[in-house]
Amino acid sequence: MWNVIFKHVRRKRVRRRKPRRTSVKSRTHFLEYKERARALVLGRIEHVNALYKFSYGTVVIRNTVSRWGSCSSKHNLNFNYKIVLLPTHLADYIIVHELCHLGQFNHSAKFWALVALADPDYVAHRAELKKIHSGTLLK
Ligand SMILES: [Zn+2]
Repeated sequence: MWNVIFKHVRRKRVRRRKPRRTSVKSRTHFLEYKERARALVLGRIEHVNALYKFSYGTVVIRNTVSRWGSCSSKHNLNFNYKIVLLPTHLADYIIVHELCHLGQFNHSAKFWALVALADPDYVAHRAELKKIHSGTLLK
C-alpha cells in the first residue's frame, strides 16, 4: 500500500513543477466561485481543526491550474477555488490533507496517520480525486 502512495507522490511532484498562466475565461469563472469556495473552506477547516487544533495563518483561495491545495512553511493554507465544485468528501479530503501539513510538513507515514484520524478512507479519496484531477475540472 505504501508503495502505491509514494509512487503517486512522486508523480504529483513532477506535475507540480511548472505553474501555468490562466486564461480570461478561467479568471471570470474564478471570480464567480471564489467567495463560495472561501466560505466552504473556512467552514470545513474550522470543523476539521476541532480535532487537530493546529494553528494556521491566512487561508487564500487561488486560481491555480494544477493543484488543489498547498500549505506554506509560514503555515498559510491555499486552496484551488474549484474545490467548491467537488463532492463534499473529496473537498474534505483536500482540506484534511493540507491541514495535516501543519503537523507534518512532508508525506511521511506520520503525516498519513494524521490524515487518517479525520479521513479513514483517505486512500480511496486520493484515488478518486486523482481521476478528477486528470479530467476536465482542473483544465
Ligand atoms: Zn501534501
